[in-house]
Amino acid sequence: MLVPAIKILKPARARGYAVPAFNINNLEFLKAVVEAATKLRSPIIVQTSEGAIEYAGMDYLIAMVKVAAKAPIPIALHVDHGKNLDTIKLAIKSGYTSVMFDGSALSYKENVSKTKQVVKWAHAKKISVEAEIGAIAGIEDFVSVEEKDAHLTNPKQAAEFAKQTGCDSLAIAIGTAHGAYKFKGQTHLDIERLKQIAKLVKLPIVLHGASGVAEDVVKLAEYHGAKIGKARGVLDEDIKKAIKYGVSKINIDTDLRLAFTAGVREAMDEMEEVIDPRKLLKPAYLLMRETAQNKILLFKSEGKA
Ligand SMILES: [Zn+2]
Repeated sequence: MLVPAIKILKPARARGYAVPAFNINNLEFLKAVVEAATKLRSPIIVQTSEGAIEYAGMDYLIAMVKVAAKAPIPIALHVDHGKNLDTIKLAIKSGYTSVMFDGSALSYKENVSKTKQVVKWAHAKKISVEAEIGAIAGIEDFVSVEEKDAHLTNPKQAAEFAKQTGCDSLAIAIGTAHGAYKFKGQTHLDIERLKQIAKLVKLPIVLHGASGVAEDVVKLAEYHGAKIGKARGVLDEDIKKAIKYGVSKINIDTDLRLAFTAGVREAMDEMEEVIDPRKLLKPAYLLMRETAQNKILLFKSEGKA
């Protein structure tokens, strides 16, 4: 069934597990993650970025997820990194059960005022709001400690922000990064900072940019020439610690993209004569489903639905 995200995030924070939030782009992604979650009885969040909405169309995405939500597990449909207020407003009106407003690039004051506006719209329809404080890296690495400190979430400011905005969950920056960029080097989470934030912020805490990549996907991707190198993004050990200290929603985008791409490349290599798209997409689907299952087990959300 389709539920507001906070309904599945609150118990996660209280009981010490994390709900996986999978970014989907099409039917294959959606079916893969919902099937994995149904098999393992895990609540999940299905989320679409503004890019995915532009690609697939909001109405198509909502219609697909409504069908998927017939599965016997709670599912929330969430806008990931909403920056455009019109898109957020439309999502709230059209059937999403959760939205993120990402004002992390704005000034603190502007982030507060726009987040408050989104909270007002969303709460009127019992829809959850994820907000963000502190910027999550991407493309370029931090160059110095000072710069690192400037980008990572300040615990006191996070508490203040949560109180002022009335958001339901809070995305923080503790050293993760978006995209496959992180595979260039090992990502280490600032667990001490997380502990301080979790002490002051009692809301479910959200971790972005935490892909780690399963071994089999790495092997396949490397076999097909993707340069992932030795590093594996965020270590499973760090993820476990983060969950222990209050992270209750973990976004999974890059891992699914890598699984999809590895599966498609394998199919194209091994089925040169095949022109049946269903056969060509099957390995990608299976790899994504396996990736989703591994995340559910790592996040300990198995059996919580
Ligand atoms: Zn993100």
